[in-house]
Amino acid sequence: MSEFNCRTEILPPDAAGVARAAALLRAGDLVALPTETVYGLAGDARNAQAVATIYAAKGRPALNPLIVHVADLAAAEQLADLPPAALRVAHAFWPGPLTLVAPLRTGHGLAPAVTAGLATVALRVPEHALARAVLNAFGGPVAAPSANPSGRISPTSAAHVLAGLSGRIAAVLDGGACPVGVESTILGFENGTPVLLRAGGVSPEALAEVLGAAPIAAGGGKVTAPGQLPSHYAPRARMRLNAQAPAAGEIWIGFGPDCAGAELTLSATGDLDEAAARLFAVLHDADALGRAIAVAPVPERGLGVAINDRLRRAAAPR
Ligand code: AMP
Ligand code: MG
Repeated sequence: MSEFNCRTEILPPDAAGVARAAALLRAGDLVALPTETVYGLAGDARNAQAVATIYAAKGRPALNPLIVHVADLAAAEQLADLPPAALRVAHAFWPGPLTLVAPLRTGHGLAPAVTAGLATVALRVPEHALARAVLNAFGGPVAAPSANPSGRISPTSAAHVLAGLSGRIAAVLDGGACPVGVESTILGFENGTPVLLRAGGVSPEALAEVLGAAPIAAGGGKVTAPGQLPSHYAPRARMRLNAQAPAAGEIWIGFGPDCAGAELTLSATGDLDEAAARLFAVLHDADALGRAIAVAPVPERGLGVAINDRLRRAAAPR
């Protein structure tokens, strides 16, 4: 890790910042970009050196594949063969917080490390205006996992990115807070049937509306990526879930009007979309206070499914 020692540029959210981000990507450098989910650590997905640097900068295990971000469905179809169900959800939710895993197409041109050598690739078309502007200016596929050290709390602001990766990446494009706040929902396809690989920014209910049924849960408990490890998104402090009240010394993170006395809140009104958008910032804030953390119950519906998934991994023994 000590081989990294650069000055990380902070780029403004305007045409000059976008042009600089695209130029750095073309040079094989890494740029943290705002997306609607979290900040992504972007590198040219066709450049093996750039991709290797993503893994190194994050301290990410090399066997865990990255999500490739593209400008539109046509660009995605140049990289992978999307089955009919994938096309249906792509039309419904792209651009947006949905990632689709599908077989690589011949001649895809991606660096092998992007997919960790797998025959499938994870693809997403982000909706965030700055991410789209950079993708269009760059003109190619960008590999972008979350812009944080592997295993730590995901970044939803440029300040979070700098706290974890300053000096290790060329630049961060400062687009303010990420509006969705949790990572993308990941769908794979087994014999054409959608399989939920990760809960995320598109709710199970919204998927079921388009697919006619909720995607089946991924079976076997096989870990294919860090976000599926029991411990991930972790603060330094110990964390306790479903806490109706704090114990002595604990920081209580509330949800809803019943938690009026809480030191921090995901949403004072009990709004799950607001809670998702605030989740990682509240965890970063709680972590900075350096005390044990207790989190109020969050309902298991809508974006609450993704929130609870992240909270369980943040609280898991490590
Ligand atoms: P992130 O760390 O947010 O970039 O997410 C990476 C996620 O993408 C992991 O949780 C994997 O589940 C998923 N992923 C990426 N590529 C593949 C692939 N080829 N097959 C299955 N899952 C993948
Ligand atoms: Mg991540």
